[in-house]
Amino acid sequence: MLKAEIIAIGSELLTPYRVDTNSLWLTERLNSIGIHVHLKTVVGDDEARLEETLSHALRHSDIIVSTGGLGPTEDDITRKVFARVTNRQLKLDYEILENLRQRMESRGFKMTPNNERQALVPRGATVLPNPNGTAPGLKLDEDGKLVILLPGPPRENQPMFDICVMPELEKLSRGIRIATRLLKVTGIGESQMDDMIAPIYQQYTDITTTVLFTNSEIEIHLAAQAETLTQAQARVNELAEKLEEKLDLYCYSSRGEMLEEVIGRKLKLKGYRLATAESCTGGLVAERLTRIAGASDYFIGSVVSYSNEAKMGLLNVTKEMLDRSGAVSGEVAEAMARGIKEQTGATIGVSVTGIAGPGGGSDAVPVGTVYIGLADDVGASNKRLILPGDRELIRARAASAALELVRRRYLL
Ligand code: ATP
Ligand code: MG
Repeated sequence: MLKAEIIAIGSELLTPYRVDTNSLWLTERLNSIGIHVHLKTVVGDDEARLEETLSHALRHSDIIVSTGGLGPTEDDITRKVFARVTNRQLKLDYEILENLRQRMESRGFKMTPNNERQALVPRGATVLPNPNGTAPGLKLDEDGKLVILLPGPPRENQPMFDICVMPELEKLSRGIRIATRLLKVTGIGESQMDDMIAPIYQQYTDITTTVLFTNSEIEIHLAAQAETLTQAQARVNELAEKLEEKLDLYCYSSRGEMLEEVIGRKLKLKGYRLATAESCTGGLVAERLTRIAGASDYFIGSVVSYSNEAKMGLLNVTKEMLDRSGAVSGEVAEAMARGIKEQTGATIGVSVTGIAGPGGGSDAVPVGTVYIGLADDVGASNKRLILPGDRELIRARAASAALELVRRRYLL
């Protein structure tokens, strides 16, 4: 199997403010054609360190992909250091220079000498055009190793990689194709789920199964390798079907969809319309629902009724009820759901009220207590949850729980 290595270049990637996301994207692309990434390095704009990193990479990897440091400024050193490491001369490429000049002039800028640097090409390199920026990429063969130098910005390097590099890599890696599937699971703990499905996926030794836990959902990533994509897909589909059957209603998608996507599709099919009344989630449920284009087909709107006044004034929750049961109670959750349903004419009213913390909890109603209310034409109901985590997690989990309750109650 071909061994690839990724080098992310840029001092900003060594600060707390920027993350190297390029390597994640590149790894996904390389893996999809059976190329394994065995090393990733983040290196600052430091000539000596980059020199060491590149020399090491040339000794150990078949394919080397770097991002960043191809721009016009003094700290953009990739081209220069690479030329030094491989003993290649840098030559001014007049076609690049002319392109640069036209690009700059069309925007009313004058070409400056430092821009010319972007037109320097190590001898023997192929230039990868950059329709989305100024710095072109470079591709070289160095003693049978393929070296790809890409610019830093994702919107520049992604199309460049797909158009100019992937076809060649696909040829190089002929004979291995990888198919993937992503199952999404909610409403069950990670270890309980693993107990359920491990006996199944362990039988598929040719498939890599990776279980990842996010805020309130579990992702099961499946990847199968075979000689053709069709074979790989058949394998991965077989396992996905078995897992989906076993997980039953816990699995809300076996095709990597988001929960709000699945819910939206089903609400639309059934002709139901939803409205939400949110307290502790401050509109997060509505935010999730409206991530999906076309959500207005089934989502009417939301009221963020954070204070008692808003619960009374906008949702007709009574003062007596708030005094008697407290704002964080099943009774108020139901009244909020009924209120929003009545105000909007929705088929289903959904409400969330709870204590996200860090303060405000008590023995009877500890931080993390969340009530989800549902109201439809038949009546109203509520569900009490005690969610773990800090404020942000509790809010995110409460929003997911509300969506999941709608799915379980109305959309299975
Ligand atoms: P430019 O011509 O835009 O300067 P460049 O090749 O010199 O291109 P850099 O200056 O290193 O690239 O990076 C430009 C921007 O690209 C960075 O500010 C950052 O936003 C993004 N970027 C760089 N490296 C990465 C990375 N590894 N992951 C995600 N984004 C990155
Ligand atoms: Mg730069």
